[in-house]
Amino acid sequence: MDLFEYQARDLFEKHGVPVLAGAVATTAEQAFAAASKMGGRVVVKAQVKVGGRGKAGGVKVAENAEEARDKAAAILGMDIKGHTVHQVMIAQAAPIESEYYLAILLDRSNRTFLVMASVAGGMDIEEVAKTAPEKLAKVPVSAVDGISLAKAKEIVAQAAFPADVADQVADVLVKLWETFSSEDATLVEVNPLVKTSDGKVVALDGKVSLDENAEFRQPDHEALVDHSATNPLEALAKEKGLNYVKLEGQVGIIGNGAGLVMSTLDVVAYAGEKFGGMRPANFLDIGGGASAQVMADGLSIILGDKDVKSVFVNVFGGITACDAVANGIVAALETLGATATKPIVVRLDGNNVEEGRAILNAANHPLVEQLDTMDGAASRAAELAAK
Ligand code: GDP
Ligand code: MN
Repeated sequence: MDLFEYQARDLFEKHGVPVLAGAVATTAEQAFAAASKMGGRVVVKAQVKVGGRGKAGGVKVAENAEEARDKAAAILGMDIKGHTVHQVMIAQAAPIESEYYLAILLDRSNRTFLVMASVAGGMDIEEVAKTAPEKLAKVPVSAVDGISLAKAKEIVAQAAFPADVADQVADVLVKLWETFSSEDATLVEVNPLVKTSDGKVVALDGKVSLDENAEFRQPDHEALVDHSATNPLEALAKEKGLNYVKLEGQVGIIGNGAGLVMSTLDVVAYAGEKFGGMRPANFLDIGGGASAQVMADGLSIILGDKDVKSVFVNVFGGITACDAVANGIVAALETLGATATKPIVVRLDGNNVEEGRAILNAANHPLVEQLDTMDGAASRAAELAAK
């Protein structure tokens, strides 16, 4: 889960990373009130979960509260790379002398954590990495050792931070590590980390991604979820405990086992090329013990997706054998009754496949069609979706 900048700022503050005052506003009047309270120069910053807001005109300095109101009015409602601005952060302005870059992230390919540090901050770090890679220090950090003050000093030296800020930057790095590890983040990025004209180091922008797999031990993170941005079908699926991800296509997918479902998505996308570019509409893994109830829940969510034109149920019977799955499909269709309106292509294989197919044949449901192979079924589902 990616956080808004103001949420990142709050987390930084909680863990002792130096930040400036900040307040969120959803209207120009609220922006005016916040700026008045803060006093002096402020920065009005669009709160959208996308980078490059500055370049897009979503970050503006205001000399006083009146100006903050006008700038907020201009920024609210703005579209930044497809994200509509619904809130702005009013941040106390900083007299910037230098802009640096610091990030801690999960480096999946090297199975480690990684610190990236640069004295060339403020701009696109991807650009720095490309044009001046020597200005970007990359230092692996082991999950066991983390970032001690000594390690932080080493990194700061490697990135060649100026002597007058080196200790402060090292201190920030240790606190960013505390933020990263104790919040179960996969990314903590500060760009820019600045030196102000009075020589203080402050985090002016923050980007934090939290690991949703750690939800169970991070009860506070629920409050950070942006429910307005959650897809309603995904929210419904989550309520029912289903592993569902909405995609852009037309063929609804139900399968058992994440690996099988992933390959089903590929096979459907491939087969769909022959039918005008039909693509999978979702990922849905109903898991190993797919009961009739789970099948009904899954089917009802998929059939409730207005983008779905056909459904492909691809199940490999294992511990839950094909006859149980077939009974689940029949029961699910009974439960759904007239709300089931789209063609359903079923491919069963594995444990008790003959029994499973026989059950579906006997039920003879007008929407259900069976095919023996995964490729054949994918192709048929794509064909039906294209009709
Ligand atoms: P981003 O473009 O989405 O990464 O947004 P940032 O928060 O990084 O802001 C972009 C740029 O605006 C920064 O690199 C700064 O140059 C400038 N900026 C942000 N906050 C302040 C501030 O408090 N004072 C001044 N003078 N400039 C700021
Ligand atoms: Mn930035």
